Amino acid sequence: PLVLGIETSCDETGIGIVRGTTLLADAVASSVDEHARFGGVVPEVASRAHLEAMVPTVHRALKTAGVTMADIDAIAVTSGPGLAGALLVGVAAAKGYAMALDKPVYGVNHLAAHVCVDQLEHGRLPEPCMALLVSGGHSSLLMVPDVTSDVRPLGSTIDDAAGEAFDKVARVLGLGFPGGPVIDRKAREGDPDAIAFPRGLTGPRDAAYDFSFSGLKTAVARWVEGRARDGQPVPVADVAASFQEAVVDVLTRKAIRACRENGVEHLLLGGGVAANSRLRAMAAERCAAAGISLRVPRPGLCTDNGAMVAALGAEMVNRNRRPSLLDIPADSSMPVTVTQA
Ligand code: ATP
Ligand code: MG
Ligand code: FE
Repeated sequence: PLVLGIETSCDETGIGIVRGTTLLADAVASSVDEHARFGGVVPEVASRAHLEAMVPTVHRALKTAGVTMADIDAIAVTSGPGLAGALLVGVAAAKGYAMALDKPVYGVNHLAAHVCVDQLEHGRLPEPCMALLVSGGHSSLLMVPDVTSDVRPLGSTIDDAAGEAFDKVARVLGLGFPGGPVIDRKAREGDPDAIAFPRGLTGPRDAAYDFSFSGLKTAVARWVEGRARDGQPVPVADVAASFQEAVVDVLTRKAIRACRENGVEHLLLGGGVAANSRLRAMAAERCAAAGISLRVPRPGLCTDNGAMVAALGAEMVNRNRRPSLLDIPADSSMPVTVTQA
């Protein structure tokens, strides 16, 4: 089926077009620059930007794919979780297109879409697989027997998301927003063992699959303040590398443990932090050592995009899932166990 996917859960207006598991177009308009001076995404600004970007981005995707709206067999849209006002713009657009074209529409879960997107790059999703989703809003370990109907949360962050920690530490280091890409770059010039930052929730009595990054963020801020108090320069590259090492160490350790303890042989990474070069390298190393196959989409498919929503929509069609009704909600706190609205 030819499926158009619409993603507006955060600050990216993503429109993707796929045919089955083949990616035809992935157009993204981001409002990230408009949020930069606030140091984080401003919901009202994001909603307004989605409204302005929606139709031009749809047209750009159609042009790239070389198809017209009339060719589209189904529409898929992120129903949640995400920013309520931002989701609403995508959901309204999807309903409008579905009604105007008289085509089925699928309201899908954003996290399941992050998992499903890998199909566009590496072929059929191996199921069951374990998914480590790490972004600015989420850090979750999910067991995925069926990406269209059965996604089980094993653990998640109890405070900050991994990407949020990258963003906050970048602010402490004066590196700007978003922090992930710039810390990734800076860290390459630094020593990951220079400073021993804490690994949250890795004690013997801690929850095996939950994460905590707020203590790490505070530890980095304290360390940097200490240097300033002593009148010493801050070795930015070493701090970046040591912080990144602490995050990546915990993420990979818990993900592999989840695979082993649940008898799952495939690990999949997704979300903006999965673009991190050190995470990709350490996951590859540790998975190889543990005999686990690793799938990581290319960075452009890890961050929020429309192709992932189209990919999941196409899979819903493939597996004969019933389309959603036209009253698809914009559900800001849609549980991950609900794959379809
Ligand atoms: P949501 O959480 O709803 O998916 P989001 O906009 O936070 O929304 P993404 O666009 O997937 O999610 O990811 C953005 C996050 O990923 C930011 O926190 C950013 O700092 C982080 N990020 C991006 N690239 C890298 C990188 N190379 N290394 C580490 N973090 C990164
Ligand atoms: Mg984003
Ligand atoms: Fe996301």
